Amino acid sequence: MNRFVIVSGLVAALVLSACNADLASTTGDVLGAAEEATATTGNGKKDAQVSAAGDVFKAATVSDSELRAYSRQMIAARDKQAPVAKAGDKYATRLARLTRKHAREDGLKLNFKVYLTKDVNAFATPDGSIRVYSGLMDLMTDDELLSILGHEIGHVKNGHSLQKMRTAYLASAGAKLASAQGKLSAQVLSELGESFVNAQFSQSMESDADTYGIAFLKRNKYKLPAAESAMRKLADLDGTAAGGSNSLFSSHPGSGQRADKIHELISE
Ligand SMILES: [Zn+2]
Repeated sequence: MNRFVIVSGLVAALVLSACNADLASTTGDVLGAAEEATATTGNGKKDAQVSAAGDVFKAATVSDSELRAYSRQMIAARDKQAPVAKAGDKYATRLARLTRKHAREDGLKLNFKVYLTKDVNAFATPDGSIRVYSGLMDLMTDDELLSILGHEIGHVKNGHSLQKMRTAYLASAGAKLASAQGKLSAQVLSELGESFVNAQFSQSMESDADTYGIAFLKRNKYKLPAAESAMRKLADLDGTAAGGSNSLFSSHPGSGQRADKIHELISE
């Protein structure tokens, strides 16, 4: 991958400092920290306001369908950079078996791939691409993986992934510039992918996706307790190097609390 992505200000510093040779090995709450910095008063806020004023017209002109199209370009670029498990690989075979029934789910057209990396993560883009890291697959049983897939599908179905894409797009000067001229460049797509994968969802989005994940398990007659045990496993990783940084865990609420909530929901 091109690690020397040009992005603006603090995000650049954080992304560059966090970006190792490995596609997925970001550390710390990269975007979480950047978002906080943007939200604080002082120069950060001033810059944000200036940029927001300039972005009003462009923001209004980015449609959902355009964002989905950019999302397809973004995931295609990311798949090229990533160590994608090839057909016949044990991880690819396992994920294909688990997702065979779910190429269409709840009105969505989905596609699934494994990224071969030790990180414990998964993410979904607004075009319905779901990517599961082999580190997560090592940690989870089949039933637990299905519960996480349900959660990720929930982010797509509830429009969270689209919202995240819009945020990543609007934060990217390069994307706005390039899209004015048509197709996004490889560098801009790489930058968008970094922003997207590292951004965290809000507390309420995570909670809604957890609820959707349980509905997914029920609808497909999968094992409900797997949703809780998967979240307990993630809770055990909270704050560790493996668990501190990725979009599966939003730090607030902690995975422990989310597991408690899931326990209540599946006990109803
Ligand atoms: Zn989530």
